Formats: sequence, structure tokens, C-alpha cells
Amino acid sequence: MPRLFGTNGVRGVTNDGMTVDLALNLGRAIGTHFDGDVAIGTDTRTSNEMLKQAVVAGVTSTGCDVYDAGLVPSPVLQYYVRQHDLAAGVIITASHNPPEFNGIKVVAGDGTELDAATEEQIEDIYFSEGWRSSAWHDVGVVQSVAAIGGYLEGVAAMVDVAAIAERQFTVVADCGNGAGCVAYPYMLRQLGCRVVTLNAQPDGTFPGRNAEPVEENLGELVSLMKNSNADLGVAYDGDADRAIFVDEAGCYISGDKTLAVTAAHAVEQAGGTVVTPVSTSSCVADLVEAKGGTVMYTRVGSPIVARRMIETDATFGGEENGGLIFPGHQYCRDGGMATAALLEIMALRDMPLSSLAAEVPDYALVKTKVDCASKRKREIMQAFIDGEEHEVDTTDGAKIVFDDGWVLVRPSGTEPIIRVYVEAREQERAEELAGRYKDRVAGLVG
Ligand code: MG
Repeated sequence: MPRLFGTNGVRGVTNDGMTVDLALNLGRAIGTHFDGDVAIGTDTRTSNEMLKQAVVAGVTSTGCDVYDAGLVPSPVLQYYVRQHDLAAGVIITASHNPPEFNGIKVVAGDGTELDAATEEQIEDIYFSEGWRSSAWHDVGVVQSVAAIGGYLEGVAAMVDVAAIAERQFTVVADCGNGAGCVAYPYMLRQLGCRVVTLNAQPDGTFPGRNAEPVEENLGELVSLMKNSNADLGVAYDGDADRAIFVDEAGCYISGDKTLAVTAAHAVEQAGGTVVTPVSTSSCVADLVEAKGGTVMYTRVGSPIVARRMIETDATFGGEENGGLIFPGHQYCRDGGMATAALLEIMALRDMPLSSLAAEVPDYALVKTKVDCASKRKREIMQAFIDGEEHEVDTTDGAKIVFDDGWVLVRPSGTEPIIRVYVEAREQERAEELAGRYKDRVAGLVG
């Protein structure tokens, strides 16, 4: 059976794989599967309207009604779906991918990204063309809706707005010309912040910067922070579900460190468990355990983290890439909520981000990879696990934990490579382990 959904919904290059035909038939499959009201929203990409119209045509042809939220961050659409008790949501976005890409992400009625079993059921309908076609008098209707206001109220209800507003923070928000433009600067203003925006005009050619908020793409934000008295810099990815921060001195703060700070704060307030993938830095466990909490590790992927959080009633969860999940708000990554939460921590603890980040232990991280044909990955991984002298955690790939660090050997889901990630307290040790384990994997590949 061919697969349609990848790790983050359906993705492809516009009109070259990601076509109106695909969008139309996927819309038919979605309507047939969920058989209820569906909300739809988009990020800022050039083909959004084209793909949205095709999905809407497909969904309404099955008899389902559509609520069109227009241009919104993914978490805003997800919040709308849950708040209004809809059957499902569809987001037209390729998140942080280059501008020629677009995608279709489907969320369940509770606003979380679909699990694999539901994706397969939709794929079955899609590939077998087993969709429903409604009678003429039952064709669905389309209604435009405003989703941002309800979301902003939801965020405000989660944080101590008075405490944040009292500090009169200045925040530089780099929206990266993505979906964050239409919601987060307004959210910051409602929290009483002075807002300076960067790349805040919606533009799917992404003229300001690459849509992925990694350090090499945030030079402008860093230099603006260095040359101003602003308190916090924040950058969002294309669909604004991830937030990456820059401190008041212009230092880029890794997603691991933000996760550690926010998770430790949540555990300090409420105790309990923090859920995160096996690839997350040990700095998160260091801080969470110091506050009396525990960390539960999952396979990589935010839907997996979110579902485990629901199952275990976890206090907090997130990924190292700036995707933070606040259970009281909703079970998905949320860049706006992450920003509000960090401002609240800065206000309540009366500390700038640099001081909060300084409480997080530093680890050296080495990322390397070995080329490996996709069809051999499974065999190579088994041989690696069988031949390893230390205990192996197989939650996702193979993780070996040492007293002073860990090694994660993990086949890529999309590329013909096996990744070798190493973290250690000392750079030298990380490089030594990386060299040793890369050689071992390369030896097995032959
Ligand atoms: Mg994203």
C-alpha cells in the first residue's frame, strides 16, 4: 500500500506531487472518514488558496460543512476545532519547508494531529476511491469564521496577564513572513508588551528569511536584540507552531534549553511527568528531576508526544525544535502559547531569559550520519543492536546511555541515511563517542 501521509501530514512541491487533484481527492477521503463539520486554515504559502479550494470542494462533496478560518497559525486552527467540537480540521501548510513546498495536515476533533491508524483509514479511502458523494440537496456549505479571537482569549486564560503586563516587556517578534504574522503580535500587545515586529508581512515567498527558525536563519533577530534594549526575541516557523527564543543580550537559546526552563516551571507548579522524544537533551531531565518531576521518553514526532501526554495525564511535553505542548491549553505544539508562557516565567521569577537559560546545564552535541540504502536500514539496525556491548534502549532507533552522555543511532524516515547523535558533558567525549559509533555503523553498512 503506498503511503500518502509522512511524519507531518502530506507534503510535496506545489503542482509537482502536491496538486489540486491530490487535494480534491484527499478532501473527499477526509469528509467520508470524519462525516462531520470540518474547519480549514492555511499558512502564507503561494498555493494555499488553490489547495484549500480543492480540499473544500472535496469535503463539501461528501456532505460535510466547512468552516474556513483563512490565514491562521496551525495552533489557532487546532484550538478552533476543539473549542467548537468539530469532527476534524485541515491545515494547508508545509511548516518550515522551502517556499515551493506545500502540505495538507489533518487534525482530529480534539485538535491533535492524527494518529497513524486514522491516517491509514483515510489513505485506504483515498487509494480505493471509496469516497462518498452526497445527494444534490445534502452538499456541504462553506462559512468563513474568525478563529484568532477565541485563541487569544484561551492563551490569556492560561497565564498571569497582570504579572506580564506589569513588567512592560519589549518583545521583538520575527514572524518569518509566516502565519504568526496575523495573530502573535496582537497576542503580545494584549499581554501588555511593547511589540517590535520583523518579517511580519504575510508572504509565501519568504523574502525575509528561511521559514525554519534555526540559528543560521535568525541573524537579523539576533542583531536587532544586540542593538536594542528589548527583553525577548522570538522567531516562529512557517505555520507558527514552533517558537525559538533569543535572550535580551542577543544570544540564541536552543530549543532544548527553552523546553527545560518551561518544563521545570510546569513541574514546580504541578509536579508530575514531562514527555519528550529520546533525542532531547539530558538538560531537560536534569532540571525536571531537580524539581521532583520525571521525564518519559517517546519516539520522535510531536503527535506521538501529544498522544502519550494524553494517555499519561502528563504535566508538560515538547520537542527540542521549539515545539512546546501545554496540556491545559491544547495537546499540540503552540508557538503563541510558548511565548506567553516564557514571558510569564520571566515575570514571575523576575529574571531575564539569559539568567533562566544559565540555570540549564550545557551539553556538547555532535550530529553525524552514515549513508545507508533505505531497504537495508532495518537489517543494519538489528545488527547494530545485536553487536552492542552496552544496554540498548530501542524506544526509537537505538539509544545507549552512559554516565556522562548518550548515543542515539536512528534511521531517517525520509532520507537514505542513519543518523548518529551524541550528547556528552564534554565536547571531547562527545566527539570520541560520535567517531566510535559512526565507525561502527559504517562498518555494518560495509
Ligand atoms: Mg511547524
